[in-house]
Amino acid sequence: MRLKDKVALITGAGNGIGRATALLFAKEGAAVVVSDVADAAGEQTVADIQAAGGQAVYVHADVSKATDSERMVQVAEQTFGKLNVLFNNAGIMHGDDDNAMTTEEAIWDLTMAINLKGVFFGCKYGIPALRRAGGGSIINTASFVAILGAATPQIAYTASKGGVLAMTRELAIIHARENIRVNALCPGPLRTELLMNFLNTDAKKQRRLVHIPMGRFGEAAEIANAALFLASDESSFVTGTDFLVDGGITAAYVTPE
Ligand code: NAD
Repeated sequence: MRLKDKVALITGAGNGIGRATALLFAKEGAAVVVSDVADAAGEQTVADIQAAGGQAVYVHADVSKATDSERMVQVAEQTFGKLNVLFNNAGIMHGDDDNAMTTEEAIWDLTMAINLKGVFFGCKYGIPALRRAGGGSIINTASFVAILGAATPQIAYTASKGGVLAMTRELAIIHARENIRVNALCPGPLRTELLMNFLNTDAKKQRRLVHIPMGRFGEAAEIANAALFLASDESSFVTGTDFLVDGGITAAYVTPE
């Protein structure tokens, strides 16, 4: 088992990437702290892990709130004795996030609070716990849009993910000598609720698919596999990367017909 005796905290683990990763990490031997604001979904992830014989606990935590973020780390240490892996995965893509002219300030602020400040809070409270455990791995979910301009405007989301990527690089350097690795996971477009709700017509979905060389959306489970590599000791010399899992989207100039 690739995460035997590790304790992992995953934000936004009630759905999508976070849920798929929680199930996989538990299967690979980790005790998992499932955190989310969607309590029923988070508790379902825990129930599914336990039904499969794994260890998990649910904690309600809004990552945009400092007190919630501090508490989710406390729950990890109190329940399982330590924290080895922190997956700052929770994020939103708001339906009213558009171009710079039309996007409301409130949408910008909400997106930044969850997608960017949430990662900061996770690190603020998670890094001391990783130090107490003698080191560990932090995975911050960015996106391919941190690297390439998106065809569909989503100004706040794109800016927030660029921030996650830049912050990840600095964290990786600052903590490199402490046995704490920090990597940004950059998924391409996935068939999760987050994107399918945003690309809410067939025309919008087709417009995005045109840019993906593999010609399909990715699956949450494919991102979970990448997170597993970054979480495990197999990636022991990997830090500060923008780890792209994107079906070739960032490599393409023109996609095949
Ligand atoms: P999802 O909507 O399926 O799941 C996100 C989870 O985060 C949900 O369970 C939701 O309740 C939770 N959440 C939302 N706000 C929260 C908050 N304030 N505090 C705690 N939890 C909160 O989304 P997903 O597709 O699994 O996305 C996960 C991450 O991957 C996000 O950061 C997203 O930006 C990123 N991402 C997704 C795609 C994609 O195409 N789906 C592509 C690149 C990056």
